[in-house]
Amino acid sequence: MGWIKVVGIGPGQHKDMTVRAIKALRDSEVVIGYATYINLIRHLVMDKEIIYSGMRQEVDRCKKALELAFLGRKVALVSGGDPGIYGMAGILYELAQNGDINAEIEIIPGVSAVNAAASLLGAPLMTDFASISLSDHLTPWEAIAKRLEMAARADFVIALFNPKSSERRDNISRALDIVLKYRCISTPCGIVKNAYRKGESTIVTKLGDLLKQNIDMTTLIIIGNSSTFIAGGKMITPRGYVF
Ligand code: SAH
Repeated sequence: MGWIKVVGIGPGQHKDMTVRAIKALRDSEVVIGYATYINLIRHLVMDKEIIYSGMRQEVDRCKKALELAFLGRKVALVSGGDPGIYGMAGILYELAQNGDINAEIEIIPGVSAVNAAASLLGAPLMTDFASISLSDHLTPWEAIAKRLEMAARADFVIALFNPKSSERRDNISRALDIVLKYRCISTPCGIVKNAYRKGESTIVTKLGDLLKQNIDMTTLIIIGNSSTFIAGGKMITPRGYVF
């Protein structure tokens, strides 16, 4: 019987991949993925059949994986970061439950961009945090705005995925307007671009200066809560220990 392993390849560099992810790629016959991600793992899959696909072709990629697994092939479906966080795991299970699929599916977790960014910024996620994607491609802006409002009001640390694309230039400033209703402009915030990849940059600044930074789709933003502070250039959210 064929199988599909949805492989979380982590943020980019080889040493941030799990041993299990590397093994799954090695054991596969066919590798399917978005070209940018395939390029990050090319050295591991030189001898495999590779099926490239473009951005926003996630559904086609999953359908292809299911088709091939049905024919008995061993398929690695590559997902950036962790496949269970805005990744391929959900689409595959949703499609699989609609059809009569006789293939084994395994999700291989990876280091998410949120983990990678937090480690570069210091220790911003030491207490409760909310992860919010600013992409309104699949989620209406009203839902995103409500989540931002609630998370900011409840004093969650907030991680923002998909902060900006060429079609969505204003979402970040709209998001900031919402958060600033509950948090002051001096709140620490971190901007990490291309974490553990070529072109990496890490900036620790204040919420009031967020929009001065270069923000795009390769960026993850972490906004501190009301206790987060900056020390030695790092962003730290205290958990409540008394020393
Ligand atoms: N499944 C992925 C997230 C996919 S959503 C994960 O777990 O990381 C894509 C968004 O993730 C990007 O728009 C960006 O906000 C963030 N992202 C992914 N890789 C990143 C990296 N190396 N550095 C900074 N942000 C990254």
